[in-house]
Amino acid sequence: MRYHKIPDETIKRLPRYMRALLLLIKEGRETVSSGKFAELLRANPPQIRKDLSYFGAFGTPGVGYDTKRLFGQIQAILGLDSTPKAALVGLGNLGTALLKYPGFKAYGMHITAIFDSNPEKIGETVGDIKVENVLELSTLKGRNMSLGIITVPAPAAQEIADQLIAAGVNGILNFAPYYLKVPEHVKVITIDIAMELARLTYYLPTKT
Ligand code: ATP
Repeated sequence: MRYHKIPDETIKRLPRYMRALLLLIKEGRETVSSGKFAELLRANPPQIRKDLSYFGAFGTPGVGYDTKRLFGQIQAILGLDSTPKAALVGLGNLGTALLKYPGFKAYGMHITAIFDSNPEKIGETVGDIKVENVLELSTLKGRNMSLGIITVPAPAAQEIADQLIAAGVNGILNFAPYYLKVPEHVKVITIDIAMELARLTYYLPTKT
């Protein structure tokens, strides 16, 4: 079930709620009070209540939230309950690091295809995934791949995005330092680590 008209700001916070819930579930906590939950998130309880109320998740007075149930509800809101499949393009240092990161699975997402243009990498296996030739990116069509992860150098990013979209991908996590042009129905989230670092230095205390 998909819900509509949930503000973007709320959608941005939902994965944070999932992360906190994952931690609680790992600790064996079946419930969490709204106060404790807010404390974990460094957020205020009314904001959390409002966010969750968009999809009818209300805690039980005096008990709080059922951790597993709430996790499942947020997964459903984000469409993660259908275990979305992702294709990663660019098996360089960053792509390799992402593939090793166990965090994706915890949220219900799976990288199930890898593409690269380097003949030395094509045919190699990473985990149980065989690296495919980027020239065959169109074969993704019909493989039910809804997400794409771009870890190729910036000059190749747009072309890869276009091909991913043509193959049916509707969500792109872009690590290339490049502003992608995409049709309206496609959502792109760009993560430029170097740019974030450049921004961060502004907040450092200045030496006198
Ligand atoms: P390496 O030196 O192992 O290639 P890297 O992280 O320094 O790693 P980058 O130049 O950033 O490499 O490229 C990232 C990956 O993207 C590489 O594996 C490269 O082969 C691949 N790549 C580059 N251009 C394309 C393209 N057009 N299509 C698919 N993959 C590409």
